[in-house]
Amino acid sequence: MTSSQAACLRGALQVGYHLLDRGSSALVAVEQTIRILERSGLFNAGNGAHRQLDGVRRMDASIMEGERLRAGAVASIEGIVHPITAALLVMEETAHVLLVGPLATKFAKYHRIELQKHQPTRGRLSYGSMLKQMTTKGDRHGTVGAVALDRSGTVAAGASTGGIDLMLPGRVGDTPIIGCGVYADNETGAVSMTGWGESIMRVAVAKTICDRLGQGKTAGTAARWVLQKLVTRVNGSAGTLVLTPRGQFAISHVTSHMAAGWWDGKGKPTVRDQF
Ligand code: ASP
Repeated sequence: MTSSQAACLRGALQVGYHLLDRGSSALVAVEQTIRILERSGLFNAGNGAHRQLDGVRRMDASIMEGERLRAGAVASIEGIVHPITAALLVMEETAHVLLVGPLATKFAKYHRIELQKHQPTRGRLSYGSMLKQMTTKGDRHGTVGAVALDRSGTVAAGASTGGIDLMLPGRVGDTPIIGCGVYADNETGAVSMTGWGESIMRVAVAKTICDRLGQGKTAGTAARWVLQKLVTRVNGSAGTLVLTPRGQFAISHVTSHMAAGWWDGKGKPTVRDQF
C-alpha cells in the first residue's frame, strides 16, 4: 500500500465514522466512504478502475442494508466517477436490484452522477487476441469496499470495482452479485469482498459468511472458515470485511496483502495491508 493510499483510507474511515457518530445510517456511511475511494483514483474503482481488454472501463458496484434486506447494484457501467451511488439509486429509486451495461450508464446519467474526465480511447486488439490475453486467475485486485453499523443497530455493506486484470469486455465479477461480493442482514452481519471474482461467485462467499455468523460463529472464525473453503474447493483468493450487529468485526484474507482499516473514533484510524 502506498502512503497516499494509506492516507486516503484513513480519511475515508474518519468521514464514515463521523457520519455514524452524527446519527447517519450505515447505508449512507458506506456510500460516502466508498465515494472517497472511488474519487481518489488510487484504487481499482471509479477514477482508478482497471480497463477491460478493449481499453474501456466497465465497473461494478453494489450496496445492501440489513434491516429490510434492501439492495442495489450496477454492472458493466461506464464513464461515471461513483458506481456506488448508482447502486444506491437503483436500490432507492427503482423496483429492481441490478441494472447492467449501457442502460445502467443511462440510468446513472439520468440521475446526474458525475462523469469521469477522461473517457478512454478504445484499444485495437482483435477479439482473438483478447481471448488469448484473458487472464485465468485475477491476482491484482484493489476493489474498494466498506461495512458499517449505525446507532439503530443496522448494518450495511458496499463494494465498487473496476474488475480484474486482462478481462474480456463484458466480464462481470462478484462485486455486483448480492450474496457473493456483498451481503448484509441485521440477524447475522455485513460482509464486503475483494479478490478473484470468479472464485468468490462460485462459493457465494458473502452470504456463506453470514450463514456461519447465523450459526453462532465469531466474525473471525466465520471469515476464516469460508476463505479456507474458497481455497480448497476452487483454488480461490479473496479478502473480506465482516461486521456483526453487535459490533464484532474481522478483516481476513488469503491473498498476500489486503489494504484495509477500521476506526472506533479513538486515536488514529488503524490502516494496514496485512491482517
Ligand atoms: N472482486 C473483483 C472482481 O473480481 C476484483 C477485486 O476485488 O479487485 O471483479
